[in-house]
Amino acid sequence: RKPLGFNVTISNFTPKPHTPFQWHSVATAELIRKQKLLQQEFRTIRGVKANFTDVRISAMEDFVGRGDRRLAAVIRHAWELGAGMDAWWESLDRAFAAWTQAIAASELTWKYRQVENGEWNVFGDAGSLQAEQTLNQPLPWDHLDSGIDKQWLKEDLQRALEAAIVPDCSFEGCSHCGVCGLDFGHNIVVPPPPIPAFQGQFVPNQERAQRMRVQFGKLGDMTLVSHLDLVRLFDRAVRRAAIPVSFTGGFHPGPRISIASALPLGASSLGEIVDFDLTEAMNPAEFQQKFGAQLPAEVPVFSVESIALNAPAATHAMEQAEYWIAVVPLFEEAETQPGGASDWHGWIRAVLEAESLWVEQTTKSGKQKSVNLRERLFELELLDRSIPGLRREQSLEDAVILRFVGSCRNDGILLRPEHLVQMLEQVTQQSFRLLHIHRCQLFLMDG
Ligand code: SF4
Repeated sequence: RKPLGFNVTISNFTPKPHTPFQWHSVATAELIRKQKLLQQEFRTIRGVKANFTDVRISAMEDFVGRGDRRLAAVIRHAWELGAGMDAWWESLDRAFAAWTQAIAASELTWKYRQVENGEWNVFGDAGSLQAEQTLNQPLPWDHLDSGIDKQWLKEDLQRALEAAIVPDCSFEGCSHCGVCGLDFGHNIVVPPPPIPAFQGQFVPNQERAQRMRVQFGKLGDMTLVSHLDLVRLFDRAVRRAAIPVSFTGGFHPGPRISIASALPLGASSLGEIVDFDLTEAMNPAEFQQKFGAQLPAEVPVFSVESIALNAPAATHAMEQAEYWIAVVPLFEEAETQPGGASDWHGWIRAVLEAESLWVEQTTKSGKQKSVNLRERLFELELLDRSIPGLRREQSLEDAVILRFVGSCRNDGILLRPEHLVQMLEQVTQQSFRLLHIHRCQLFLMDG
C-alpha cells in the first residue's frame, strides 16, 4: 500500500568516433535546455526523482572522445593540474577547472574542432552545402579501420535523422556496412539455443557458517583495476574455486564479499583486507590455496584467518592506515625558503610540530566544512628506500618517499595521501606533486 518511488537517471548523449554521430558535438547549452524541459515534466509526476548527468562531464567526455592529436598536450597538462585517474564526478569542480585551464594553455577552446570544421545542424537541411562540407572533412580517427564504410556511416546518420530503423544483421537482412569481407570474415547467424524450462527462481544460500579474513596485495598492472572490478574479480575467483560463499537476501542477492577500504586507482598495496562469509566452514589453509590459485600473480594472498561471525566487518573496524608515498617538489631549489634547499626533515618537523592544519572540504551534500588534518596524522617520516614492486619510471627519479600513518575510518574521518600533500603545502607555502601511493597496511580496532 505504500506508494512506489522511482529514481530515473538520464545521461547525456555524447557522440563517439566510428559511429554515425561522429560528426556531431555536444552543445552544453542545448543539454541544459533539454534537462530543464525534462525536469519540468518530471516535477508533475509523483514519486519520480529524476537525476541528470552534469553537463560538464559530457563536455569533457566529448572533448576527449572526439579530439585530434592536439589533445595529447591538453591531457598531459590537465593531469599536471590535478585531473587524475579518479572518476570525474568524484571531484568535478577540480577536474573541470583543470581541463578548462589545460585547454586554454594549449590555445584551444572547448569547441575547437566544431569551430574549425563548422557545426553540423541536426535540424537543418542534411543535404546542404555546409552539411556536405562537414561530412567530407577528414576525421582524426579516419586512419583507424573499424571495418565500417565511412560512406555507410554518412547514410546511417541520414537514416537516424529520419528515425528510420536499420535491421539488426544478427537476425535480419544485411545493410552492407562494409564489415563483412575478406579481412573480417562473414556474418554467420547462429540460431539461438532453446530456452530451458523454468525451474524456479535461483534461491541464494544465505547461511552464514564462517567468516574468513584475507590479507592481500595489489601490485603492478593490477593497480589499474578499479575497486568495483576488484570485487568482480573476487566474485569470479570464489566461484571458480568452488568456495561456498554466502549471499545477501533481498531483490538483488550478491555474494557476501566485503573489501575493507577502496584503494585509489593506480595505487599499489601490500596490506589490503577482504572478508568472505561462507555457508560451510572450511580450513583457512585450503581457502588460501584454492582462492589464491584463481587470482593473478599481482594480487597475492598473504594470509587467511577464520574470525568470529559476529566480529565487526573489517570495513567498520578500520582505524588507521600506513602509506608510503612518492612526492616531488614543484619548485626550483633556489625558490626554497630559508632552512635549506629541499629541506625535507625541516618540512616534516614543521608538519609534526603544527598544532592544527585546517583545510576546507565539501561534504557529500555540498556543504563546506573545516577539517583539522593534523589531528588525523599519527606518524610521518622520510624513508630512504623505494616502494616495493614499483616500476622506477623517469618521473620518480627526483621523488622522495614519505611514510605516514593516518586515520582511515569508515565514517569519513580519514587522512588521504592528498591530504598529507596539502599539509606539506601549508607549512612550506610551496607546491608538491604526489607521484605514487602505496598502502602498507590497514590497522583494525582489535589490532
Ligand atoms: S552482415 Fe556484415 S556487412 Fe552486413 S550489416 Fe552486418 S556486419 Fe555489416
